[in-house]
Amino acid sequence: MRITMRPLIAGNWKMHGVGSRLNQIEDIAASVGASRPEADVLLCVPATLIFRAARAAAGQIAIGGEDCAMEAEGAFTGDVSADMLKDAGASAVIVGHSERREHHGETDAVVAAKARSALRSGLLAIVCIGESEAQRRDGKTMVVCGEQLAGSLPEIPDGGELAVAYEPLWAIGSGHIPTAADVIAVHAHARSCLVLRFGDEGRAMRILYGGSVKAENAQSILDLADVGGVLIGGASLSAADFDAVLRAVPR
Ligand code: PEP
Repeated sequence: MRITMRPLIAGNWKMHGVGSRLNQIEDIAASVGASRPEADVLLCVPATLIFRAARAAAGQIAIGGEDCAMEAEGAFTGDVSADMLKDAGASAVIVGHSERREHHGETDAVVAAKARSALRSGLLAIVCIGESEAQRRDGKTMVVCGEQLAGSLPEIPDGGELAVAYEPLWAIGSGHIPTAADVIAVHAHARSCLVLRFGDEGRAMRILYGGSVKAENAQSILDLADVGGVLIGGASLSAADFDAVLRAVPR
């Protein structure tokens, strides 16, 4: 299936960035305002930066969080709810990033609860899935991704917006990316899981690719069937690198 939807180019700053980096967001926003790429642009930043990032973005790009709590509010010291992210200026949140799954033991059920909470708060929930190197070697990629999709996606309330990010763990931050055929195969599999579960809504959902996306490979990845955008870690930290990716968006 060829995707004709407007792609989403999303950055993930991870645990990088204090106020002195906000100039990068101002630069990205200015360049998006001037070049008007045929894409929606989103930067997901640490919770401490969201309020100031949204101001720096000046309405030219969207700002998102990198995680949210499962619960709406309560005695959960240190957690940040989806409502709080929204209140600070976020319109989206990443949930189930492999670093959260690995370092914080987040299961599919936890990820689904976080995504549900994000949707209830009116945030776009970007749910990450992806296989490890060993799982790929053992031929388990499709099974793993299918199971993660089945377990990590909540029901979608009216007006809720969900996207999936396929991020093979071994491609994140490594400089290695899957072959085009492999990306196409996993995205096609994810699409069929989404359509089976959500019908037409599943057809319209964006499936992003993430893992070592840079200016040099962005265009060829965005050209692939069923790739509805990219999720970018390292190359989203500098305005120059992120801009270079944006220039690769097919017009
Ligand atoms: C990520 O962590 O979501 C990611 C895709 O990182 P990188 O682009 O640095 O591989």
